[in-house]
Amino acid sequence: MKVIDIIKNRKKTAFSFEVLPPLRGKNADSVYKTIENLVDFKPEYINVTTHSQEVVFKEMEDGSIRKQIIRKRPGTVALAASIQYKYGIPVVPHILCGGSSREETEQILVDLNFLGINNVLALRGDGGKNETIFKSSPNGNTHASELVKQIVDLRSGKYQDPSLKSPVPLDFCIGVAGYPEKHFEAPNLEEDMKNLKCKIDAGADYIVTQMFFNNKSYFDFVDRCRAAGITVPVIPGIKQISTLSQLTVLPKIFRIDLPQDLVNELEKCKSNDDAKVVGTEWAIQQAKELVAHHVPSLHIYTKGRSDNTKKIIEAVF
Ligand code: FAD
Repeated sequence: MKVIDIIKNRKKTAFSFEVLPPLRGKNADSVYKTIENLVDFKPEYINVTTHSQEVVFKEMEDGSIRKQIIRKRPGTVALAASIQYKYGIPVVPHILCGGSSREETEQILVDLNFLGINNVLALRGDGGKNETIFKSSPNGNTHASELVKQIVDLRSGKYQDPSLKSPVPLDFCIGVAGYPEKHFEAPNLEEDMKNLKCKIDAGADYIVTQMFFNNKSYFDFVDRCRAAGITVPVIPGIKQISTLSQLTVLPKIFRIDLPQDLVNELEKCKSNDDAKVVGTEWAIQQAKELVAHHVPSLHIYTKGRSDNTKKIIEAVF
């Protein structure tokens, strides 16, 4: 089932969460365990993240240095398909502009269609560790709006090869990312909103937000979306803090603000266990207020930690 239909047909706020493909060399047991811990709460769909390839330089036995391209977390498509078949829950694999030509992106979409998956979250991705700016692949998409357009074109059977005879249309429900506190590369909120609108005008069906810890950022963001003429559902993404280091790591990686009250509480914590209690309670209060405002779905960034997520869901639904 398509996420947009799940949201439109729902009687109350839906619940969804995301899982990461395991690191190369590991099996998917930990992912299945996360899902099995949460499955009783009837998640309406599950997102599966994707991770672009990285360039690493390895010293060989003879002392020479070899450049290698590795993908630390491979297998998004296969994992998404296995989850959908194993649990009967619709999946939303993430797909990126980065690391793929348009032809390779099309191949991923063809594979997803064969596997019975009709939802995707269309993202640009980030530059590599040593790159300050994002670079697209040769003949790849540069912005998520271009990726959305490519996926939408397939709805009318427009493939990359125009000589195909009677090509079958592929119909995906498309989510895109939104940033209540602004994407870090955008010069200001207005430009970021214009670029978000491009993704919706290109045909995206709904928006999922970057994590935020102050619900006012989400409510203001939705107001700004509506003022800009964006009418699609805006799904809030929330995350529970579970370690002390996240006090500095989350703002740095995701370029988001932590409210002073939350910082004060976390600074009193002596251990990660204490931080987990504070982080979970904060997320519960956030989630309760969002659900009271009838948000379309509550999307939880579990990052494999199902125990805290379970506490939020138990407290809220
Ligand atoms: P875009 O929408 O392309 O925007 C990127 C920047 O370019 C913004 O500053 C925007 O304002 C600007 N921009 C857009 N269009 C134009 C234009 N036409 N001209 C000029 N500027 C423009 N990353 C992963 O690698 N894997 C994942 O699985 C993943 N999942 C995510 C899930 C969610 C819900 C979110 C919020 C983010 C996720 N990310 C993931 C991170 C995402 O890839 C990065 O935040 C990335 O930097 C931007 O992606 P985007 O799709 O928002 O890009």
